[in-house]
Amino acid sequence: MLENNKQPKTDLGKLGEFGLIEKLTRDIKIVNPQTIKGVGDDAAVMNFKDKNVLASTDLLVEGVHFNLAYHPLKHLGYKAAVVNFSDIYAMNGFASQLLVGLAVSNRFPVEAIEQVFEGIKLACQIYGVDLVGGDTTSSTSGLVLAPTATGWVEPGKTVYRDGAEKNDLIVVTGDLGAAYMGLLVLQRENEVFKVNPKHQPDLSKYSYVIERQLKPEARKDIPVLLRKLDVQPTSMIDISDGLSSEILHITKQSGVGAVIYENKIPIDPQTILTAEEFHISEITAALNGGEDYELLFTIKQKDYDKIKGNPNLTVIGHITEEPGAYLITNDNQKLELKAQGWNALENE
Ligand SMILES: [Mg+2]
Repeated sequence: MLENNKQPKTDLGKLGEFGLIEKLTRDIKIVNPQTIKGVGDDAAVMNFKDKNVLASTDLLVEGVHFNLAYHPLKHLGYKAAVVNFSDIYAMNGFASQLLVGLAVSNRFPVEAIEQVFEGIKLACQIYGVDLVGGDTTSSTSGLVLAPTATGWVEPGKTVYRDGAEKNDLIVVTGDLGAAYMGLLVLQRENEVFKVNPKHQPDLSKYSYVIERQLKPEARKDIPVLLRKLDVQPTSMIDISDGLSSEILHITKQSGVGAVIYENKIPIDPQTILTAEEFHISEITAALNGGEDYELLFTIKQKDYDKIKGNPNLTVIGHITEEPGAYLITNDNQKLELKAQGWNALENE
């Protein structure tokens, strides 16, 4: 909220719900042919013809998923949209529409809600998604964002979590662990700020990890790339809760096991340096940190040549017949992976 101090503050009550919706949605342009009717009627209308329709929702709750002391509102709106698109890409599909539910307390002026929507609309513009509807209501406590993304996939191209088979290769996109290290930096600086509000930290050496936490990107490019490479994954999931947790979802649902190798897990140099500073292992950040919004998938061994050398894709292990998922460490220990991903339902 700090960035709003010098801006005008319009009381939400003055504008009313319909006034707010009008203000937030008046510049929306529809870009997808599947969107027949967007904002402005009782429901959005979409026509996907012979495609499978995908729908996914992912809530963001103040105090549980984000802290407004260090999360700029525009970035928060952007993140809320992008994490929902990520679930559509995880089905090997294309995100095309977004609906946004929003609950706010009257401590938020209209301008604050506008900033959240600026972020949502920017994400929609960059990802080519139509904002087609939503609802706003008052909340007695914090800010709650409840977006729902819809999208489509050709029936034969849909990828589920349960299709991994023995000897399939395990592949991840991008690099892992950065978002968690960004969170640790932001939490540390916030504690310093509480004691000394004049403290002006130089966060430039953490720019990548902080951006991965505050303004993540989803892998819109991967479903496109997989079609270009003519690779049909056997299973796929997005990495929202940490690599361990996601591998276990795939192995359990597919009825198989997995082995991954510590020295194969892609990690950015800035993640490694930040982890060293916090005296934690960067592998722990990758396995258990979460919020990287990369994709984890499995492919047939025969497809290895098609993905080999692609800078977006790293093979980190393989699927086994015997159940259980294991990490082979650099000193050749075999450790069982546990679902230590961040669990919103557990007390911190
Ligand atoms: Mg997911």
